[in-house]
Parts: sequence; C-alpha cells; structure tokens
Amino acid sequence: MWRKADNWTAFTDGYRTWINGPNGLEQRLNSERFPWEPDYAPGGGIAGPSADPLIASVLQVMRTTATGMDVYQWFVDNGIRLAFGELDDGVNSQYSDGNFVLNTQTFSEYDQDVLAAKLVSDAYWLGGTYPRTATECLVKLVQSQLTGAQWWWERFGSDGKVSPNAAQARMNNLLRLYVAGTLGDRLNSDISTREWCTTHFEGSLAPSPTPEPTPQPTPVPTPTIDPELGPAIDTMRSTEFGRQAWQQFLESGKSVYICDDSCFESIHRIVGTGGAAGIYSHAKQAVIVRRAYFEGTDSASIAVLLVHEFNHAIWSHLHRRSLADCFAGESDAVRWQIKWVNEFYGNVLGKWQYLLARAENPEAVPAWKKNCESRTY
Ligand SMILES: [Zn+2]
Repeated sequence: MWRKADNWTAFTDGYRTWINGPNGLEQRLNSERFPWEPDYAPGGGIAGPSADPLIASVLQVMRTTATGMDVYQWFVDNGIRLAFGELDDGVNSQYSDGNFVLNTQTFSEYDQDVLAAKLVSDAYWLGGTYPRTATECLVKLVQSQLTGAQWWWERFGSDGKVSPNAAQARMNNLLRLYVAGTLGDRLNSDISTREWCTTHFEGSLAPSPTPEPTPQPTPVPTPTIDPELGPAIDTMRSTEFGRQAWQQFLESGKSVYICDDSCFESIHRIVGTGGAAGIYSHAKQAVIVRRAYFEGTDSASIAVLLVHEFNHAIWSHLHRRSLADCFAGESDAVRWQIKWVNEFYGNVLGKWQYLLARAENPEAVPAWKKNCESRTY
C-alpha cells in the first residue's frame, strides 16, 4: 500500500499496520497515527480531514451515503485537509499540496446538505488525473456534477429534499434530470460549462450534441394491467401521492399482474425468500404480485406493496448499477411506502412502524441483502 500524501509504504493485517517512515519500519494499530503522519491528532489518534467545526459537521452529513463515504475515505487516504479561506470571486474551491480550500464567501450561502453535495462534486474534480484539454475538462466536469447528483439521490431519494430552500431546489432540479437519465446530456451542452473549459484548457470542444431526430414510434406491446388488481390500484390512487406514483408507473410502460406460486417462483430467482409478497422483474418488465399473498390481503396492504414495487419499476435502471445503488433503491422504495401510508392513514403508526427502520437500514432486511448481493453489477 502506498500513500501519495506523504509517500509512505505500509502493510496491514487489518488490525495492525507496519509503516516504513522517517524512523525506519514502525508498527502501530490501524486506529493510531505517528506524529509525522498527515492525519495525526494530538494523543496519537486519527484527525478528521478538517479542524473547522462547520466543515467537520458537513463531512458528517456527507458520510451518510455510500458515495459520501468513498469521498471521505479518499480525503483520509490522501491526507487531504479542508479549511475555509478567501478565494477570488466565482472560485468555489482550490486545491494544492493536500490542502483543499473552500471559498468562505460562496460556501457561507449554503446549508450543510448542499455543501456536502458540492464537496462530493469538487472532490471528484480533484481526484484522478487533472484534465489537460478542454475535452477532458468537460468530461470530468460533467462527471463531477453527476457524482454530486448521485449523492443527493442517495441522501434524499428520487423526490429530493422536502420543502427545499433555493439552493436545495437547484439540487432537486439536477436530481430530476439525473433520475430521468438526461443530466449528462444537459451538462454536456451547457454553454457556460463549455465556455469555462475552453477558457481554462487547451483545444476546442466538439460541437454540442444536437438532439437526435425524433425516432419513428415503434409499436410497443401494451403493458398488462391485471384487472384483479383494480380495487388495490383504486385504493392506491385515493391519495395525491398514490395518483402521482400510478401516473409515473403508467408512463414507465411496465406491466403489473398477479401470478400463482409456481409462476412466481420461476421468475423470482432468489431461492429462500419464499415469503416475498411481490417483486419487480426486470426480465418481465413487470411488477408481479404473488397470488397466495393477494388472496386474503386487504386492498390497502396490496396498495402499499404496489407503491414499493412501482418505485422499482420506474427506477430500476438506477438501482442496478452497484450494490450501494441497490440498497439505496430499497430505501427509496420504502420512502414511497411511508409517504403513501402517511397520506392514507394520517401518520405512520402501528403495523407500519417497521417501514421506518427498513428505510434507515436496508442492508438489515435479509431478502434485500440476499437479492442485492446476488446480482452482478
Ligand atoms: Zn424492494
């Protein structure tokens, strides 16, 4: 293992680390630091990447998502220190020699959530190879914005932050494009982004992609909506959020139907979660409800199930990219359930209480853990 920040070589057994430093080969616990290490804290512990209390709490917020954890680890591994400082107008942050300076002026306008998202974007911009040409600049700038939007999605789900202030609303807008899969294209053709890259880097950019001519509509098979599910769908649509969710599901072009046990098992490739009440099958492009569950379950409970699976149907493309995304997708689907239950019953009570715990910690739900970990990404 080699660390760029202070050019040391080390090896670890997961508990202890042997480091080749200025005093030759030395041994310490993984949780300790030598005084010559960049993240040494008085007493021999590990210092966080920043001594500034505001930045430290932004880092806390940043670490609430998988992407944020990665960025934090990157700060730590590279011994990067963060601090506020005076920078030129319009410059958000600056990096040199392991010091990441955030513009006091610009960053004072934002709350911790927006700051954390910006930090994630900026860290992406800093990491890896520095762009040499305008083209490389644009690619990296777009990717850094996408990473920030990804963080926002992991933190707040596909609906974004509720009751946002102005800066949060801008992040919610990015999120909407991100979820729709069009954010990359938008940023690629954004005039000010392109101008910035051609001003600061060598070379010119390829013309901004012009929209493809509208393809001829190809006949798609009409999605199946199982009439037996009518009462449950009506119940679902009896709330404002339920109507929206149904509308989005319709627009996704996916099907929804009931299947008996043998049909259900043949589609559901995860053996051992025999109790599953419903699934979204990517192969079938359909939400499928198990007949054994459907029989004898009230419409409202079926509606709760549908809300969850519809979320998967609508955003399956996001949930299939990585293990972390799969878990984030489960959280998001549960947030939809909670939203619907709140509207329908007035608040989350009694038997729905468990949903909150699931949204907080999707990894702890055995069926999801099994499902997410069994996929290939
Ligand atoms: Zn699910």
